Amino acid sequence: MTKKMTPADVAKFKALLLHLLQHLSDDIKELESETAQACRRARDSSNEDVGEEVLAVEFSFDLMERDENTLREVLAALERVADGRYGRCQKCDHWIRRTRLTAIPHARCCIDCQRLVEAEQAKI
Ligand SMILES: [Zn+2]
Repeated sequence: MTKKMTPADVAKFKALLLHLLQHLSDDIKELESETAQACRRARDSSNEDVGEEVLAVEFSFDLMERDENTLREVLAALERVADGRYGRCQKCDHWIRRTRLTAIPHARCCIDCQRLVEAEQAKI
């Protein structure tokens, strides 16, 4: 049975979340400038070469989308910190294991519920 979060635990995970937030926003900024550069190169390139730049833009967009999704999850987790709900599974209300939160500080569910959610998604 996983123990309840102490205020010290929450403070530790909050610091992890803020670190992640900083890292993600730096990453997104970098991807944005890469995308802008690839757009400029696409504009200046010959018709034969434009395909390569389009691929570069698409690749940066995919990465940005992934980062933005994670960023949203991190923000939602920080809201849970503020509400005092951080560290509880949103499905079964049990405490999420510390090892899981250390790996994924923005996890919404415990590992058992996460597996169920993923099994549900796999069916669709
Ligand atoms: Zn759960």
